Amino acid sequence: MRGHHLLCALGFRGHGYSPAFSANMAGVLARLDANPDAVVAVTDSPDLICAAFPPEQPAHCREAQVVLRDRRVLAGIGLRPGDALPWGELRRRLGAAFAPDDLDTLCATCPWLPFGYCREGLGRLRAHASSDRSDALAADGPGSSVISRPC
Ligand code: SF4
Repeated sequence: MRGHHLLCALGFRGHGYSPAFSANMAGVLARLDANPDAVVAVTDSPDLICAAFPPEQPAHCREAQVVLRDRRVLAGIGLRPGDALPWGELRRRLGAAFAPDDLDTLCATCPWLPFGYCREGLGRLRAHASSDRSDALAADGPGSSVISRPC
């Protein structure tokens, strides 16, 4: 999956460039969300989501600014094109690396940005990660979390 699509996935609400595009993206994301251990290779070029872009519309998949967005997202989560990680780990890294306000710069030219879906999705991901950490600390008991986890 290309780097910036990792972020797009957080804001996806079934909308897209055509019904077939949206159906393909929904199917890809449903399979991954059902299997967070699935290993996903990342790229800075057209991927399985771009494959369903409607051919009659002007394609932007190879535009320099889009490729640059891929590379910025991947660099932010410590990856390069060709690397691969489980889907769940990719999500964890995204939530740790980016805040909703970062999208204003990263995605400045994207027509979907003004809808706010992606900001909300990223905010939700970060909120869940934060509550998961709180739950883990509460379960471990005071102080125990500092013992055995070199970061
Ligand atoms: S604003 Fe556009 S490029 Fe950025 S995450 Fe959303 S859909 Fe993807």
